[in-house]
Amino acid sequence: MEDKKEESKCFICGATSDERVLLNSEHEGESKKVCVRCLPPLIHGGS
Ligand SMILES: [Zn+2]
Repeated sequence: MEDKKEESKCFICGATSDERVLLNSEHEGESKKVCVRCLPPLIHGGS
């Protein structure tokens, strides 16, 4: 059995929910968390 604590991290910058607000998102069919700082570029379609 794994006793790994489920960790919430931004999939882009790796920030944890302790550092920033994280939001649920879906990317390539997987549920991922993204922090509020990384979200705006995603919305604007930044490359
Ligand atoms: Zn981030």
